[in-house]
Amino acid sequence: MNTKKIAIAIDGPAGAGKSSISKVVANELGYLYIDTGSMYRGVTWAVLDSQIDVKDQVAVEALLPSLNLTLEPTATACKVYIKGKDVTSLIRQQQINDNVSTIASYKGVRQYLVERQQEMAAVGVILDGRDIGSVVLPNAELKIYLTASVDARAKRRWLEVQGTSNEQTLDEIKKNVVSRDEMDKNREESPLVCVEDAVVVDSSNMNFDETVAYILNLVQETINHE
Ligand code: C5P
Repeated sequence: MNTKKIAIAIDGPAGAGKSSISKVVANELGYLYIDTGSMYRGVTWAVLDSQIDVKDQVAVEALLPSLNLTLEPTATACKVYIKGKDVTSLIRQQQINDNVSTIASYKGVRQYLVERQQEMAAVGVILDGRDIGSVVLPNAELKIYLTASVDARAKRRWLEVQGTSNEQTLDEIKKNVVSRDEMDKNREESPLVCVEDAVVVDSSNMNFDETVAYILNLVQETINHE
């Protein structure tokens, strides 16, 4: 059997399950998993914490050199540190969801994070985000565009936040998902696109385990063809 390790890029809209699915697939394969969205969330947390106006691109970009943003991939999560502080649980708050796509639209922010992502990436790695197949890992052996209907994505996220401090109504979640998608697809700097050489996986009618199995199969097929 061919045991060659490859690089895997997973892109797609908000709430498509990229992070939770990538984590399990990476564990199964013994690959490193890098959640690039958590890095954009980390910068957003730092901007809000410093009381900088999110709309002030110059001030936001001036903050970057002092952040010392680091990512510690573990078996269960990608831990995010800003100036040595673990902000992993803080970056999932609603305020971050509401502002992250504005921060992610800034060229300087993207350059700063893409550089770090490329430094961490090698073979035997899964990166998920919005510009992985197009910008971060254009030579990845396997590119996946993971999507699902807006209703399916909002419902899944709603179920996830039930009983947590981030609880919201289904309607609020749907609005946030739609507005982030709009911004991510229409921004000037590396917008969310489905690249030509990506395999589209629509999980609207697949459950979690079926989606994981489907992707593991795509990985095996790709390795067999290498
Ligand atoms: O993946 P997640 O939903 O946590 O990403 C949060 C936000 O970060 C996205 O809505 C998008 O604005 C931004 N992002 C990005 N490029 C990436 C990963 C995330 O612009 N590679």
